[in-house]
Amino acid sequence: MPNLKKGIYVVLTGAPGCGKGTQARLLKERLGIPHLSTGEMLRAEGHTGSELGLKIKALIDKGNLVPDEMIIDMLKNRIEKDDCQNGFILDGFPRTLPQAEALDELLKEKNITLDAVIEIQVPDEIIMERILGRYACMKCGQGYHDKYQKPKVYGVCDTCGGTEFYRRIDDNRTTVQNRLVNYRALTYPTIPYFEKEGLLKCVDGTGSIEAVANKIDSVLGV
Ligand code: AMP
Repeated sequence: MPNLKKGIYVVLTGAPGCGKGTQARLLKERLGIPHLSTGEMLRAEGHTGSELGLKIKALIDKGNLVPDEMIIDMLKNRIEKDDCQNGFILDGFPRTLPQAEALDELLKEKNITLDAVIEIQVPDEIIMERILGRYACMKCGQGYHDKYQKPKVYGVCDTCGGTEFYRRIDDNRTTVQNRLVNYRALTYPTIPYFEKEGLLKCVDGTGSIEAVANKIDSVLGV
């Protein structure tokens, strides 16, 4: 396995709806390194309609995690790609302790050390409102919110002019409740794990998108 060059290696973590995806997309623009969203990778597999894709989709739609082994393999293959040579932003991985341990092993093999694990903190009542109101442009994926981030022109995407939008099937109240239960039981234990490694940085995720982005820049020192 070739050694990757030193760059910025960061994990964005936090409960569903805390803004990981939004902040990762912005950070990608600022740092010029790829945004690796395991949720997006899994949804792409789901859209292929393959047998595996259908199994993944059933788990996601109910708010359950896919098996560790599967996601670790997927991530491993992704970080081998050329565009990961100068760093990456992980969004949605690791989501369990075995995933966190596997990430450590994977990076150790490559002589890479993580620069930071940033936990974006948002209270549950805000999370529900954020998730239930969010939607995205079908064409370019730009995210919007019914209340907090409407397109400038009603029904038209600010970024690409697209006029069709979608909501994620797992963005409904029952599934979000299950995702929060899974977050607390399975993902939250990775927080003290990274704290022990001296990597954890906590950022208040309740401000504006720009304010949170500024806080992330300052903890990364960029
Ligand atoms: P996200 O787009 O990060 O909200 O992820 C959407 C869904 O994909 C999650 O609710 C899980 O079902 C699945 N998923 C994403 N990342 C992981 C992961 N690291 N481990 C297990 N399941 C995942």
